[in-house]
Amino acid sequence: MVVVLALGPVPRVPAAHPNTRPALPMSDTTSPFGGLTIDFGAAGDGVAAPLAAAPVATPADAGHGPHETNVLILGSGPAGLTAAIYAARANLAPIVLAGFQPGGQLTITSEVENYPGFPEGIQGPELMARFRQQAERFGARVVDAEADRVDFSSRPFRAWAAGAEYQAQAVIVATGASALWLGLDSEERLRGRGVSACATCDGFFFRDKAVAVVGGGDTALEEALYLTRFASKVHLLHRRYEFRASRIVQARVESHPGIEIHRGVTVEEVLGEEVVTGVRLRDVATGATRDLPVEGFFVAIGHRPNTAPFESWLEKDEKGYLVVEHETHSRIEGVFIAGDVHDHRYRQAVTAAGDGCRAAIDAERWLEEHAPAEAAAAATG
Ligand code: NDP
Repeated sequence: MVVVLALGPVPRVPAAHPNTRPALPMSDTTSPFGGLTIDFGAAGDGVAAPLAAAPVATPADAGHGPHETNVLILGSGPAGLTAAIYAARANLAPIVLAGFQPGGQLTITSEVENYPGFPEGIQGPELMARFRQQAERFGARVVDAEADRVDFSSRPFRAWAAGAEYQAQAVIVATGASALWLGLDSEERLRGRGVSACATCDGFFFRDKAVAVVGGGDTALEEALYLTRFASKVHLLHRRYEFRASRIVQARVESHPGIEIHRGVTVEEVLGEEVVTGVRLRDVATGATRDLPVEGFFVAIGHRPNTAPFESWLEKDEKGYLVVEHETHSRIEGVFIAGDVHDHRYRQAVTAAGDGCRAAIDAERWLEEHAPAEAAAAATG
């Protein structure tokens, strides 16, 4: 635990000039969009909503600009970028390490219909590009690199990304969550060759083809609905007989002529040598197996919080999510937590954004009360 003395306001790193470079690259990762409230609208309307124009990708700029900051934000989804907006406006000159998927899960979604302020809906990538532009406008420095190691043993806290070291008086962890996979060898082998965890990224490639989606939550059912825009047939595969998805989505799926539901089945194998040609299903009641011919296989079975760099520093709950001690504080003073990396209950873009706001305000107040460690050490020395 850091020993600190209250020495008045923290001498702040001056805010950088607003960064004017273009925002988010569209992710080409396979992380899904589930966990955030996304409604693809009426499925089966025959027309795929185009994704927002992909902002121009910029290379990671870890070598340029400052590496010391009052507030280092890890993650650039709704939580991280909202924290950046608030911290920047508090003149804290935050640095954001955007992570492996800049913009987070919403960058691989299509329509977001329930983010307040957009009555007509907005494309996920465009929404996140706007978050980032807003943060950069107020002087946040967003670096397209992933923090792979941290040292929270004392202040300044340290983090490493793309080989560069960053130092900060406070840290906000907003690294979000990533897709889960079934764990089959064949699933791994055929990933990108018909196996995907992102219907909005890859659905387009399956026009007039039969596809399967595995899972029984909101993500799986919404992916199935979305895929009806392209696929000739969507098979929804669920290991139980009841879905855990919301009733309104269930009703849409059950009444959709393009979706065939297979309950009580597990996926034994993804079939195909070079590309997916089918899936082998096992009936959980009888044990019987059968092959279902499909050319696309979409996995939508939930998420894992992105906590790897924090394993030895921050506490996790039984589901592996980071534990928040009070408000947004972690067990380490000066390290705050926001968004899906700790929230497995709400997991919405708007709740993550709210969380990012809270974390930035908590960090700002904490910094006001706690001088940098070296100043404290000098005062006691
Ligand atoms: P969930 O955890 O809700 O659902 C995961 C599904 O995958 C479950 O049906 C589960 O089966 C199944 N599953 C898990 N592991 C396996 C496995 N190894 N093999 C086969 N099936 C498996 O995750 P989601 O991503 O669907 O949703 C996460 C949260 O985000 C939820 O709260 C959801 O409501 C929310 N969300 C909301 C949306 C919206 O409101 N528009 C959109 C998307 C997500 P079982 O049921 O048997 O456990």
